[in-house]
Amino acid sequence: MCEACAVIPAPTWTQAHRHACEVRQVMQWGKPRRAEYFESVERQRGKAARARLMDAVNREWAAQQKGRAVA
Ligand SMILES: [Zn+2]
Repeated sequence: MCEACAVIPAPTWTQAHRHACEVRQVMQWGKPRRAEYFESVERQRGKAARARLMDAVNREWAAQQKGRAVA
């Protein structure tokens, strides 16, 4: 559990888990909230972090669309 999926993060979470959770979370939001979040990521963690996150979300999105098309 990390701060994205639990109010009190467990000490077991890894950076990889945290990243996966963040991507899942972002994907549940609508476009305006997503854009807002990307802005805050850039402010807090920089342009590279924002680009990384957007890329991960886009990849996950593409993978899901594909999964849906096959099913
Ligand atoms: Zn988590």
